[in-house]
Parts: sequence; structure tokens; C-alpha cells
Amino acid sequence: MPQLLEGKTALILGVANKWSIAYAIAQAFVREGAKIILTYQGERLQQTVQELGAELGASQVFECDVTKDLSKLSELGRLDIVVHSIAFANREDLSRPFVETSREGFLLAQEVSVFSLVAVARATAPLMTEGGALMTLTYLGSTRVLTNYNVMGVAKAGLEAAVRYLAGELGEKKIRVNAISAGPIKTAAARGIKDFSKILELVAAKAPLRRNTDPSEVADMAVFLGSDLGRGVTGDVLFVDSGFHIMGL
Ligand code: NAP
Repeated sequence: MPQLLEGKTALILGVANKWSIAYAIAQAFVREGAKIILTYQGERLQQTVQELGAELGASQVFECDVTKDLSKLSELGRLDIVVHSIAFANREDLSRPFVETSREGFLLAQEVSVFSLVAVARATAPLMTEGGALMTLTYLGSTRVLTNYNVMGVAKAGLEAAVRYLAGELGEKKIRVNAISAGPIKTAAARGIKDFSKILELVAAKAPLRRNTDPSEVADMAVFLGSDLGRGVTGDVLFVDSGFHIMGL
């Protein structure tokens, strides 16, 4: 069977462990014939991500904290796909009332979860010399009030707006920019959200498909966006959430 990403090189930011959505994306990209490059946030994750990278045959695995200098990204050579799978908010800002969000907590969530997409786009767009696909991960809390998502909901709203502005500008370079809105998935980041297991139960009961989202389903959407099949899609938010977002009462 032909592989959908043959000949393409993908940079994937945001693998923390084998439960990370970015890891599922890396697996799917390798399955489809892409050459992959992985980054991890800091020393704490180094061994795990280097081991995962070795298993997947990643051509490079290196540290990249998006709040710091991103010049190393600019030195990577030609890229076709960039996956931004990064977000952070202080745990206390995901449990106390939203109105009590601290200034520092708000700015931190915006910096790591939103500005980083702009910074990554700036560093990598010049490397997408044949055009390319930049994608990020978002959540329904950007447009709906979801209990305990708080400061991260506002960050995801900003992220989705950043996707549209980047898509508007980078389209002339044949670079497409999209967000995948994933249903809730048990990962390290999700564990920061209070009562996350209750959210999983509720979604499985209410979603049209009556089940939760599997990371491999999100990864296959990333394959679609990164491949030539997604060539006409940019500036959009594509849902992979068992259809939960369409439901009202
Ligand atoms: P994850 O495995 O914890 O991935 C989040 C990644 O962001 C981690 O690798 C984390 O590293 C990294 N990160 C945080 N601060 C960073 C920084 N300053 N520089 C570089 N990397 C940094 O969780 P995930 O659920 O797969 O999250 C990936 C993306 O999917 C996030 O944008 C998240 O909001 C989104 N998403 C998740 C869900 C869900 O239910 N899980 C649903 C929809 C969207 P550390 O571990 O070192 O912090």
C-alpha cells in the first residue's frame, strides 16, 4: 500500500511519554513513511523521549523549551510538517474559579500554549521551502465553558485565532495551518484538569459515537493534514472527538 507521508520530514514538538498525543502522531507518521524529528521540553524528559525516538527511528531528538531561544529549530533543514502539541497552565488556575486567575498564570498559559505556535511558525516556515503543513492541538473549551478548563480555554481560543492569522499569512508560501480539536484523552497534561475522569465518563455517555477518543484517531487526522490529501484545508479547526461537540441537550 502506498504510504501517505513518503518523502516528507516532520518536526514533532510535545512528546513527554508514550501517552502523549504527539507520540501517537509520531507513530502514525512513521507508519506512513515520514522521517521524524522529536523535541522534548527539558532534561527531566530527555531519557524517555530519546528512548521513544530511538524506537521510532527518529533522525534527531533534542531539547526545546518553547519559552526559550528557538534558533535551533531554524537550523533543521527542509521540513514538510510541523506538529505543535504543547500547552501548559498552573494547576491552581485549573481548579480555582476563573475570575481568580492570576496575572502570571494567565500570561504563562498564553506564552506556552499560544505564543509558542507563533514562535515555532516563525522559526520553521522558512524551512518549508516546498510548502508544508503546520498543525496544533486544541480543545472544545476554546468556545464553550467547560468546568475547570478556565485559563486554558482562553488560551485555546487565542491558539485557534493564531491558527487563522498564521494560515492567512503563510498560505502564499503554500504552508497550511490547522488545529485538531481532540476529545479528552488521559495524558499527563489532562491529569492537571480537576475531575478529568468524570469528563471522560460524561463524554463516553453523550458523544454520538458513545465512546471516548483514541489518540490514534487524532494521529490519523494529523496524517491527513500533513499529507497531500489535506492540500485544500487551511485555517481550520477539525474535530476528532467522537462527535461530542455537536451535542446540545
Ligand atoms: P502531554 O503528553 O502532557 O503533552 C504536553 C506537552 O507540552 C508535554 O510534552 C509538555 O512537556 C509540553 N510542554 C509544556 N511546556 C512546555 C514548554 N515550555 N516547552 C516545550 N514543551 C512544553 O499531554 P497531551 O494531552 O498530549 O497534550 C498535547 C496537546 O494536546 C496540548 O496542546 C493539549 O492542550 C492538547 N489537547 C489535549 C487533550 C487531552 O484531553 N489530553 C484534548 C485536546 C487537546 P512537560 O511534560 O515537560 O510539561
